[in-house]
Amino acid sequence: MSRIELGSEQVASIRRTLERRERDIIDRVLQQPDYPPLPACPECNAVVEQMDSMVEPPQFEVDERAILINVKPCGHRFRGALDIDQLS
Ligand SMILES: [Zn+2]
Repeated sequence: MSRIELGSEQVASIRRTLERRERDIIDRVLQQPDYPPLPACPECNAVVEQMDSMVEPPQFEVDERAILINVKPCGHRFRGALDIDQLS
């Protein structure tokens, strides 16, 4: 299954949700079953139990940086171009 391209708006929104969730977990010292939900799958809207994201390794002669996102259990895989200022 090939990766689904996400717009930079979608990527930004997912990253914001993940950051907020992480802050919540740390601030409120939450334990596993009380973790806030992950963002829904942008493709099928399924409940996401696991979301792995990583910055795509730089490619030769490609200036663009992208983030790769894999969600489970629906198994959709995404790729979203990153604005440089999102890479901090
Ligand atoms: Zn999905």
